[in-house]
Amino acid sequence: MQRVVESDVCIIGAGITAAMVAAKLADERDARVVVVEAGGDPPPIAARFSHRQRWLDYEENPWPADHVASQDVEGRPMGYSPSMQVGGLAMHWGAVTPRFSPEDMKVRSTYGVGTDWPLDYEELDPFYQEAEERIGVAGVQGAPDLDPRSGAYPMPPLPLTYNLVRLKEWVEKTGVPFWAMPSAKNSIPYDGRVECCRNETCSPICPIGAKYSPDSTFYALRDRNRIDLVTNTLVRRLVLAPGGGRIERAVALDRAHPDEPVEFRATTFVLAGGFVWVSHLLLLSAADGFPEGLANSSGLVGKYLAGHRGVNAYVELPMEIYPGMNRQHSLISKHWMKDGPRDRYLRHDFRVWESDYGRTPRLQDESGTILLGDEMMADWRARATSGMGTARLRCYYDVIPDRTSELTLDQGFTNDWGDPLPRVRFRDSEASRRLRAYSEERIGRLFGEFARAGDGKLLRVAPSDAQEHPGGGCRMGDDPAQSVVDKWGRSHDHENLFVVGAPTLPTTSCTNGTLTFAALGLHSAAEIGREFPERKSAQDP
Ligand SMILES: Cc1cc2nc3c(=O)[nH]c(=O)nc-3n(C[C@H](O)[C@H](O)[C@H](O)COP(=O)(O)OP(=O)(O)OC[C@H]3O[C@@H](n4cnc5c(N)ncnc54)[C@H](O)[C@@H]3O)c2cc1C
Ligand code: SF4
Repeated sequence: MQRVVESDVCIIGAGITAAMVAAKLADERDARVVVVEAGGDPPPIAARFSHRQRWLDYEENPWPADHVASQDVEGRPMGYSPSMQVGGLAMHWGAVTPRFSPEDMKVRSTYGVGTDWPLDYEELDPFYQEAEERIGVAGVQGAPDLDPRSGAYPMPPLPLTYNLVRLKEWVEKTGVPFWAMPSAKNSIPYDGRVECCRNETCSPICPIGAKYSPDSTFYALRDRNRIDLVTNTLVRRLVLAPGGGRIERAVALDRAHPDEPVEFRATTFVLAGGFVWVSHLLLLSAADGFPEGLANSSGLVGKYLAGHRGVNAYVELPMEIYPGMNRQHSLISKHWMKDGPRDRYLRHDFRVWESDYGRTPRLQDESGTILLGDEMMADWRARATSGMGTARLRCYYDVIPDRTSELTLDQGFTNDWGDPLPRVRFRDSEASRRLRAYSEERIGRLFGEFARAGDGKLLRVAPSDAQEHPGGGCRMGDDPAQSVVDKWGRSHDHENLFVVGAPTLPTTSCTNGTLTFAALGLHSAAEIGREFPERKSAQDP
């Protein structure tokens, strides 16, 4: 028998962006909100310590049921398809939360590359602030010209370890300011969650809930009866109302009862499935009169996939660093995000961590002699207290996407229900292709300059190929011929359809992107909510 679930707002996907949209609507509007998630529930907090232990002991995935079998990308459950569960990828995340820079939203008008966003930093600033408050971010104001913000962080920064204090002294010898990386980890008890006590395994799992993960938002909303959370249910198609202007329903598969079709009917549909699955769902929803999929009159659904690449390095320094104090905490500078050469586009962040590179215990020394028992301990102690220490550096640099950087339907791979799966191909724009070697070489030279400033030695420089914090596929813009959604995430083609977060980004800056996905989600929620009456009191259950 067919099941029909009705609501005012149907949010598809239960990751961090969805959590922001659901929370804002639930707090501010009288609207029935349903959140549909393909995956199930993650293990409860009480079970996370043992999951963490098994990860440490055996490298077992601490989120054992976070993948929907056969919902793969190019035949693999890896890459962009995990983590499908309540909370999405942000169950695994490292929870660092830098903002983008004002320049990120105007790369075309400033540097002549890519495209400008249809909104500027000033418009997004209050939503960044709201995201930081809803998520719970611990941070310190960076150099104001590099890190503009109109409000204070909701929590004081995570304390710098002895190692980071020493490393900060070193990097600031260059005259460039560095500060503690803002993080969605509780430096004090916050929002019913406990304070971070440095278990050091934030990514992939915090055993005590001191790191923000979106499951906490969904469960709090569900406990207050503010949302319905429908899990283990994969939305397979959006269906248009007669006439073709509005979305009428979402057709889904209840994985526990695959023979009983489920249909979600709502006034407004919000696609919050993240970077891969939103474009995929729109392409899958092709219908009579819409052979290229829904919301796709521009032909740009799945196009302009964007990310940034990183260059890593290790530097040996004449200072004692004691690895293991809080490996996941770091310093950031946005100095090179702010300004750069106008003729050769290169913008990047700069991060610094403590490192145990070359200082971990070993069973063989340089000459090949086997080290066991006391010998191994003596060798380890000698190398760890040699008066030398190691730092890890990394810069993400902005890569401007080409139109052919795309997600398409791969007829060669189908899921268990016969739907073609995504094929993902990143391609740099002509400008980024030309500048790649220069960018990586320039960053490598910068690492060398930093090493010299501390009388240190550059041990290793390694550019990476992966595009991190990916976005795009439904880019936003004012011109319906050049974009899929407007600045609120509303489809240019279907007035009751919104895309939120990562897929809407025209470019994805050169630093971690999730806080920006969350802020954009809240910006969209402000517009989505306008259609529904205000709640009388935010204190009501
Ligand atoms: C190991 C790791 C560390 C990271 N660390 C950081 C970090 O420190 N800082 C940072 O900024 N970012 C980090 N990231 C990236 C960050 O986790 C993601 O950018 C972010 O979680 C994406 O959130 P989202 O809301 O866009 O989507 P997702 O988290 O992908 O959530 C989408 C959800 O929608 C569901 N869904 C999709 N399609 C459908 C459908 N058709 N029907 C029903 N449900 C559907 C999926 O199952 C999923 O649960 C990290 C990622 C990883 C893997
Ligand atoms: S350091 Fe540990 S306690 Fe703190 S947020 Fe990370 S995993 Fe949780």
